[in-house]
Amino acid sequence: MEAENRQDIKSFTLEELKEEMTGLSEKPFRAVQLYEWMHKKLARGYEQMSNIPASLKEKCKEHYSYTALRLVEVQESRIDGTKKYLFALADGNMVESVLMHYKHGNSVCISSQAGCRMGCKFCASTLDGLKRNLLPSEMLDQVYAITRESGERVSNVVVMGTGEPLDNYENLLRFITLLTDENGLHISQRNLTVSTCGIVPKMRELAKEKLQITLALSLHAATDETRRELMPVANVYSLAELMEACTYYFEQTGRRITFEYSLVQGVNDSNKDAGRLSELIRGMNCHVNLIPVNPIKERTYVQSDKRAVEAFRDRLIKNGITATVRREMGRDIDGACGQLRRRFLTR
Ligand code: SAH
Repeated sequence: MEAENRQDIKSFTLEELKEEMTGLSEKPFRAVQLYEWMHKKLARGYEQMSNIPASLKEKCKEHYSYTALRLVEVQESRIDGTKKYLFALADGNMVESVLMHYKHGNSVCISSQAGCRMGCKFCASTLDGLKRNLLPSEMLDQVYAITRESGERVSNVVVMGTGEPLDNYENLLRFITLLTDENGLHISQRNLTVSTCGIVPKMRELAKEKLQITLALSLHAATDETRRELMPVANVYSLAELMEACTYYFEQTGRRITFEYSLVQGVNDSNKDAGRLSELIRGMNCHVNLIPVNPIKERTYVQSDKRAVEAFRDRLIKNGITATVRREMGRDIDGACGQLRRRFLTR
């Protein structure tokens, strides 16, 4: 495929789009109309834009690319109605996203990169490495396409699918700006969670933005040694540095950190591990989300059994730490990160 050299119209802010229209000798109100079609009415392309003159549509096609993900496959869980979507990007790369139904509303989990280069040992998304960063519009369009396809209102977005969001930092920030924009879907910052494996300098940079989003840190271990075993990024940043960055994030934003901790049998799930974790995060304003690791066939890691998970949680609670066990959604449909995409790529 030819390299795309047009600019991406869905990644412009409204202000930028107004400047673009002025540059094309169009009136700024055209930007308002285009923006509304793209970000509020979630148009699949220019065809639907009934109040845009044909001449302007032609100009737009000439100057800009228009991101519209192609839905390749949907799987629906018979257990809990969770839906998993596989989308093709314009260049043929694949990403997956998930729609989950909770009592408090519908949540969409999106990917931030095609593939990933972080190399976490239990994760299917990283097995083939990083293909490329997603554009802001390609992150947005996962939410837009799911909203259209499901006909349901999406109230929460979590950036917890394939990829490391802080490894695609500028595009992530622009995505947040557009997703929370009152001229678009206007999702509240508080209903947005960004999950990171712990890229310390970027966590600090994000803190300085003083957003009201939730930062989730994939901790998975309470000692540097165990964390290095599971996550190569732990060779770059120590737990001490990570914890300082989390404290800084809370100081800057007032937002409580979520720690994600995937329980792997015999690796990080003992009573001693729970004790060490309690020590590590004692006194911090945080919440611990425990997730029994989802086994992937390329690795030998085993999920902790139910009793070990509950004992781990109880020990944390006894130590005064807020901890919950994440309900596993869509167990029957390749629920774990990157599994659907991977199955598709290898078949
Ligand atoms: N790169 C980011 C976001 C994507 S991963 C991050 O690391 O946080 C989202 C979460 O799912 C992370 O906590 C990750 O460690 C976890 N995860 C990945 N594969 C998993 C698996 N097989 N079982 C349980 N959790 C997994």
